[in-house]
Amino acid sequence: MNAQNPASAGGPVVEGPRDPEHDPRASYALEPEYVAALTERLVATGGTTAEVRSPLNDAPLAHVPQSTPADVVEAFARARRAQIGWARTPVEARQRALLRLHDLVLDRQDEIIDLIQWETGKARKHAFDEPLHVALTARYYGRTAARHLATTRRPGVVPVLTRVEVNRVPKGVVGIISPWNYPFDLALIDGIAAIAAGNAVVAKPDAQTVLSALLGAELLEQAGIPRELWQVVAGDGAEIGGAIVERADYVCFTGSTATGRLIARGCADRLIGCSLELGGKNPLLVLRDADLEKAAEGAVRASFSNSGQLCVSMERIFVADQVYDRFVERFVARTEALTLGSTLEWGNDMGPLISRQQLDTVTAHVDDAVAKGARVLTGGHARPDLGPYFFEPTILEGVSPEMTCFGRETFGPVVSLYRFHDEADAIARANGGEYGLNASIYSQDGARARFLARHVKAGTVNINEAFAATFASLDAPMGGMRESGTGRRQGAEGVLRYTETQSVATQRLIRFGPQLGMSDEAYAKVMNANLRLMKKLGRA
Ligand code: NAD
Repeated sequence: MNAQNPASAGGPVVEGPRDPEHDPRASYALEPEYVAALTERLVATGGTTAEVRSPLNDAPLAHVPQSTPADVVEAFARARRAQIGWARTPVEARQRALLRLHDLVLDRQDEIIDLIQWETGKARKHAFDEPLHVALTARYYGRTAARHLATTRRPGVVPVLTRVEVNRVPKGVVGIISPWNYPFDLALIDGIAAIAAGNAVVAKPDAQTVLSALLGAELLEQAGIPRELWQVVAGDGAEIGGAIVERADYVCFTGSTATGRLIARGCADRLIGCSLELGGKNPLLVLRDADLEKAAEGAVRASFSNSGQLCVSMERIFVADQVYDRFVERFVARTEALTLGSTLEWGNDMGPLISRQQLDTVTAHVDDAVAKGARVLTGGHARPDLGPYFFEPTILEGVSPEMTCFGRETFGPVVSLYRFHDEADAIARANGGEYGLNASIYSQDGARARFLARHVKAGTVNINEAFAATFASLDAPMGGMRESGTGRRQGAEGVLRYTETQSVATQRLIRFGPQLGMSDEAYAKVMNANLRLMKKLGRA
């Protein structure tokens, strides 16, 4: 693989994180005034700050004011006040604000991408995916919210005389707790659906990536969303995230399965709903009739996008015996051609991991596998020469159940290869473990791949694509089965989860109960005859 090392290479095409003294574009990301303009949106009165360092160079990036539990109470009070007026705002007006957000995100994408890169270290092309997906989501709900949320007519118990309507009523204030891996995207997309449905939001981004989430809040306000409607708090996950779970009317959480369980328990205690978008150990299947060039290209993107720190990325690849060697040759060659670098420029394929903790986890998974007999086909090492948290894109063979990375999510650039002889066996192995987020099947027989997909335990299955086909098809629901979560984002499901149904029935002319001096017994007979008649007429 090609390495672009800002510290040692020094050539004209190689550039490290911009030097604030010499590059004016760098200065804004680090400029105290820029940071202050973003952080003044936080409800954070405790007087303490947390230092955030950039994984690009481990240099300090910002000091972020920290919220207290009392600040969370205040954020909810503000959000509740704002939500009353917002719920009365016609859904068409809410939609127009989302369509303005779409344009603003595209207009300011360079700034957004720079900030994401400073906070996460990811390669520019993967940072670009974030404004892209936010714009898609804003456009989707900007065009469809009214349709999804429209009051619907349902058949009443007495034909013609019982008129029934089902309204969609906003839940109130939605708590959005989001992780660091897609900090702009995941801070916004679920909340966009929540406000489209007439709710307010109290958001708690991960401590490493508060600034990207705050930039999103600024853009929402510019798009015409009332400032008070979207509150952001910052702080420790358990303390501040926990305070959100104690007050929200609904919680949307994206993060690890372990934290998801805690959130689910908290929500169960309060009898409120939640959607949980959690981890995965996603499988990719290469069938014997696959186009191997396409499969190898997809496998690289599937395994190493955002350095593997992507919930829908692939950590297990099952390859048909007949094509195994030819696939592996192509996959390894493409992986070795990846360019690693910690620069803000386009052109790098992979940046560093986000933190020391991620690097330690990835290193431990690979070391454990190698110690127990796995073979490294390429990669396998940390690369401190490139930046503080670099790890090479790594392909393993011979991974077995006693190795940690066999079933546990690594959440890094490490993928294991497995051979299979028949497809039923491959599906059974792909379905092993407890997760069920995303899967991918490469085959030139689309109908057969779609048939097999029905047997895969995953909330999304991409055929001849890694993850983008489902992730960007906004009308289709996306989310996990089993320990990968509950609830769905995207599509009608993604907005209806933030509503309560309210059934309104209007009764006309006749009432329920005996009419005109009829006895209870005669009434029962009439009702029985009526039931039989309705069944004969085919009524539901
Ligand atoms: P995490 O669970 O540690 O943290 C996620 C968020 O929860 C952060 O904002 C954190 O501060 C907060 N938090 C932590 N403890 C909390 C608590 N007790 N109560 C309330 N909030 C708390 O997850 P992470 O390590 O930051 O993210 C990586 C994980 O997220 C991976 O497992 C990945 O697969 C998953 N993920 C899933 C999706 C998806 O859509 N399914 C998307 C991205 C990431």
